[in-house]
Amino acid sequence: MSLTHLRSVAATPVYLALVCVCLFSSPAWAVWREKTDAIMGTRIYVEVWADDAAKGDAAIDAVMADMTRIDVLMSHYKPESQLSQINARAAQEPVQVDPELFDLIKRSLYFSEITEGAFDITYASVGHLYNYPEHIRPTEAQIKSALPAVDYHNLLLDPVHHTVRFEHQGMRIDLGGIGKGYAVDHGIGILQARGIQHAVVTAGGDTRIIGDHMGRPWVVGIRHPDDKNKVVTRIPLVDTAMSTSGDYERYFYENGIRYHHIIDPHTGHSASKVRSATILGPTATETDGMSKTAFVLGPEKALEIINRMPQYDAIFVRPDGKVLYSNGLKPPDAPGAAAKTSAAAKPASPAKP
Ligand code: ADP
Ligand code: MG
Repeated sequence: MSLTHLRSVAATPVYLALVCVCLFSSPAWAVWREKTDAIMGTRIYVEVWADDAAKGDAAIDAVMADMTRIDVLMSHYKPESQLSQINARAAQEPVQVDPELFDLIKRSLYFSEITEGAFDITYASVGHLYNYPEHIRPTEAQIKSALPAVDYHNLLLDPVHHTVRFEHQGMRIDLGGIGKGYAVDHGIGILQARGIQHAVVTAGGDTRIIGDHMGRPWVVGIRHPDDKNKVVTRIPLVDTAMSTSGDYERYFYENGIRYHHIIDPHTGHSASKVRSATILGPTATETDGMSKTAFVLGPEKALEIINRMPQYDAIFVRPDGKVLYSNGLKPPDAPGAAAKTSAAAKPASPAKP
């Protein structure tokens, strides 16, 4: 249809009537909807772009309900959870669990294997001796006696019967280092199944983004380790997951030493090579697992590994305050800047805070 013809049609009453019918019969306007809740002992934030407010709110509520379901299944704080049943009985007998929990434990073992045990859910055999709000920590003698139980090789999985067994007395597991990332991915799956294409889901330090935000990247800040109101850098992101592990989330001081919740499974002590480690990657389950790994290994070793893995990028805040980036996040003219292109994560270069 030529432009002239369109103009002449537009001037007629028929066209005006059509426009009115279309306007009034079309669905309500698409909207951004958001909600914050407290589940899994942490802050959950979900924001979606939906066809209308009711659809958006229903999708957010479905994600929140799913997070509660995952918490009931996997929390080590809830004595009735299947995870607590494993901790109570798996040293005596194989404990059968739901395939979903079984699969996440299996996934955790995979992360232990690729990180030579820097990520290890059996860290909890020592980890449970710390109580950060109460300022309680194990003595050296307690760590020495509990440490032999920290070893993912002694966590035996039977894929046919979906059973879990501990081959060491005193062994415990907790999924605090991967469960929130998993819940975020599951939440994104729920949103996508409802046709949502632009959203962010956050659980504590774990976030996943789908789509963009009004045609532009989402901008995510990485907080200053000593001041939650300051950011050390901002990263523009599209279709990416991101997890940060920091020594400022749960900690206490004693004699000038910071005791915090990320434990080096080889020593039983809080890891101290870095103040925070952030990982970008395709899924939050992966970035959650990798952020503990990066924290425990420290920037030098972790960057060496991550710079070889095209699906991940990393940002570290060192104890002296310096911020380090993996090659994929460096400006193109910086030394060592990306020769690789990131397949799933799509970050641009970080912006100045
Ligand atoms: P958030 O819980 O806010 O997402 P993190 O992702 O940093 O924070 O997870 C910290 C949690 O990871 C700890 O509270 C603990 O449950 C678990 N954890 C600590 N050290 C390890 C480790 N070496 N391997 C696996 N899990 C760990
Ligand atoms: Mg996490």
